[in-house]
Amino acid sequence: MQRKGLLIILSSPSGAGKSTLARRLMLWDPSIRFSVSATTRPARPGEEDGREYFFRSHDDFAAMVDRGEMLEHAEVFGHFYGSPRAPVETAMAEGRDTLFDIDWQGGQQVKQAMGQDVVSIFILPPSIDELERRLRRRGQDSDSVIAARMAKSEAEISHWAEYDYVLINDGLDQAETELKTILMAERMRRDRRPGLSGFVRALNEEFARR
Ligand code: ADP
Ligand code: 5GP
Repeated sequence: MQRKGLLIILSSPSGAGKSTLARRLMLWDPSIRFSVSATTRPARPGEEDGREYFFRSHDDFAAMVDRGEMLEHAEVFGHFYGSPRAPVETAMAEGRDTLFDIDWQGGQQVKQAMGQDVVSIFILPPSIDELERRLRRRGQDSDSVIAARMAKSEAEISHWAEYDYVLINDGLDQAETELKTILMAERMRRDRRPGLSGFVRALNEEFARR
C-alpha cells in the first residue's frame, strides 16, 4: 500500500555508532536513501566524493546555501555541513525514506521544515570511556582530532531530549533491532498511509453488497 516517505534523522556524539547503524539499516532495506551531505571538510582516506560526502570549497558551499539548495546546514568541528534539498524531495515523492546522519542543529532545522514527516533518533554510547575506545578503534582520526570530538560530545549529548527516540548502542545487534522496530512502527502510522482511506472505503462497499 502506498505511503509517504519518511525523513529519518540519526544523531549522536561522534563514535557512538551512527554510521554503522545507518549501514545496517540500509542493508536491511535497500530502498532507504542515504542523504549525502555537502561539506567543506577535507576527505578522509578512503572517502569518495559523492559517496560519503560531496566535498566542496567554502565558496561553492556558500553558493549552494545562497541559492536555497540546502534543506539545512550547520557548522560542526569548524567545517560546514549541509543536506541538499532536491534528492530528499525526489525520494519523498517516490514514497522512499531518506536517512540523515546529521548533528542536532541540522536535526532541529529539518524538523522545523518538514515536521510531520520526520522521525528523529538519538544514539547514546553505553559509557564515555567506551565512546573514546570506539573512536580510537575506528583508527581514522589523529589524537588531536579524537580529543576535539570527545570535547564536543558532552554538548552533543545535551540535546538528547529533543529527539523522538533514544537508543543506547551497547550491543550492536540489539541496537539494530531497536532501530528497525522504530522504523517499522513509524511507517505504520495512520497519517503516513494515505492509501488506508481507500482501503476502508472498499471494505465498506463490501459490507453494502452483503
Ligand atoms: P559514528 O558514525 O557515530 O561516528 P561509527 O559508526 O563510525 O560512529 O562507530 C565508531 C566505531 O565504533 C566503529 O569502529 C564501529 O565499528 C564501532 N562500533 C559501533 N557500534 C558498536 C558497538 N555497539 N559495539 C562496539 N563497537 C561499535
Ligand atoms: P564527520 O566529519 O565525522 O563525518 O561528521 C561530523 C559531524 O557532522 C557528525 O556529527 C555528523 O552527523 C555531522 N554532519 C554530517 N553531515 C551533516 C549535515 O549535512 N548537516 C549537519 N547539520 N550535520 C552534519
